[in-house]
Amino acid sequence: MPKYNIVIIGSGLGGLICANMLSKEGYNVCVIEKNKQLGGCLQTFKRNDCIFDTGIHFVGSLDKGQILNRFFNYFGIMDKLKLKRLDEDGFNLIHFNGREYKHAMGYERFKEELLQQFPNENKGLDTYIHKLNEVVDSMNLYNLREIENNNLIDNSYITSSAFDFLNSCSDNFDLKSVLAGANSLYAGIPDKTSLYIHALINHSFIQSSWRLVDGSDQISDLLAETIIANGGTILKNSKVEELVFENDKIKFAKLSNGELIEGTDFISNVHPAVTMEMVDQNKIRPAYRHRIMNIENTISNFTVYIVLKKNSFKYQNYNYYHHNSKNVWGANSYSTDKWPDSYMLLTSANSKSDEWADSLILLSYMTYDEVKKWENTTVEKRGQEYLDFKHQKAETLVDLVEQKYPQLRNCIETYYTSTPLTYRDYTATKEGSLYGIERDCRDPLKSYVPSKTKIPNLYFTGQNINLHGAIGVAIGSMLTCGEFVGLNNLIKKIADAT
Ligand SMILES: Cc1cc2nc3c(=O)[nH]c(=O)nc-3n(C[C@H](O)[C@H](O)[C@H](O)COP(=O)(O)OP(=O)(O)OC[C@H]3O[C@@H](n4cnc5c(N)ncnc54)[C@H](O)[C@@H]3O)c2cc1C
Repeated sequence: MPKYNIVIIGSGLGGLICANMLSKEGYNVCVIEKNKQLGGCLQTFKRNDCIFDTGIHFVGSLDKGQILNRFFNYFGIMDKLKLKRLDEDGFNLIHFNGREYKHAMGYERFKEELLQQFPNENKGLDTYIHKLNEVVDSMNLYNLREIENNNLIDNSYITSSAFDFLNSCSDNFDLKSVLAGANSLYAGIPDKTSLYIHALINHSFIQSSWRLVDGSDQISDLLAETIIANGGTILKNSKVEELVFENDKIKFAKLSNGELIEGTDFISNVHPAVTMEMVDQNKIRPAYRHRIMNIENTISNFTVYIVLKKNSFKYQNYNYYHHNSKNVWGANSYSTDKWPDSYMLLTSANSKSDEWADSLILLSYMTYDEVKKWENTTVEKRGQEYLDFKHQKAETLVDLVEQKYPQLRNCIETYYTSTPLTYRDYTATKEGSLYGIERDCRDPLKSYVPSKTKIPNLYFTGQNINLHGAIGVAIGSMLTCGEFVGLNNLIKKIADAT
């Protein structure tokens, strides 16, 4: 008898959601996580009494009846989360060319707010809002409607670009830049990013936006509690190095200490290309392996985590997105000598004070190439040259931020930084990629990875299946678990959970 029905490799949001759903359905699950902390991008770290989020800074659609609220209810964690609703009058502030524009919460307010700065754009804004709703309404999974004939989403929303869609809404360059101004949330690229990605992500945050007070790891902790309560097993500090076969099926996940974890089925929450490295080359068709290994990934990030002096910097109940120019689509086009081209700034929500921020996070795109020369090093052992590189980058970024907040340097107690190598080493995402696989509206099949793999008892889950972000991963996990318990059965149960 196999020890576990389902072995899940990786405890990112996707792995934990699958373990929650399947253990609830009576499966004997085992989650294996390489780090000492669960959660992947939900991990936090604590310095100088400040809690820093690393990969989930805010979430959307948590009002009653909205999609993430329904998922979290089904997981049994909604009532236990400590949340802070972002400013309804402006949860995102977009800044370029010396002006600031707000994304307000709820479509009516969203439109009213932007009409104040673009009074002639009534029609353009109506077109924009109408289309966002049309795209999202058409997605059965997003609306927890049962699926017929495998119809997940209208193909035209996948193959048309967000950039072209915005051009069709208005001729006003500034308005289009404002509507795309938070595109770092999906590493937007003009000729690649699909309309549905822009629509789904913007819609979810316009519906309602929330910070997680005292850290995003509350989600992973609460999910872990539900898994244990359902009889599941979670192994931390346990790196899976190899998937060991018996005939054409996987029998064991082999850990780096040699231990073998036996299962009937295996779900990998690890990046598909990294998962392929765990499989013997002879066990998988070369063409499949080659395709998975060579799918492009989204860009990575440089992050500065600032500990603020006590009562020196006001808490900002919104996210701030700065762009050096009104061309806000910078993900694949910044030039290293002019870095940073843009940044996102946010103050973390903490339970100590509503008025003062204790910490501040600055995020700016960075390619893997910038740190490639240290790729054979490990955390905290990368050498002085790397430390100098990080210091110089952090100072350059803070210089730019000071143009907006001239007092910032006086408020800094100390700061910490992370690079694409940090993301790579903490989550095993290929080249530290922010959001995993890059989707390309010009060739959607190239980047499509279904949850079912070519190995009969191996499945994928997480951000590479459907979409990144809390909602994208929840939907992707539902697709993975649907392979075991029936997708429509699961959809119905989640839709019924209140
Ligand atoms: C900087 C940044 C900011 C973001 N901000 C937001 C945000 O504000 N809101 C939002 O909704 N989304 C945000 N996202 C996206 C979101 O965090 C991710 O899409 C999502 O959390 C990914 O979850 P996942 O389950 O796919 O994988 P991951 O979180 O990457 O988890 C993978 C897990 O697998 C483990 N693992 C890897 N290899 C092995 C192995 N060999 N053995 C055992 N375990 C292994 C890893 O340690 C990790 O725990 C952000 C992402 C980043 C990087």
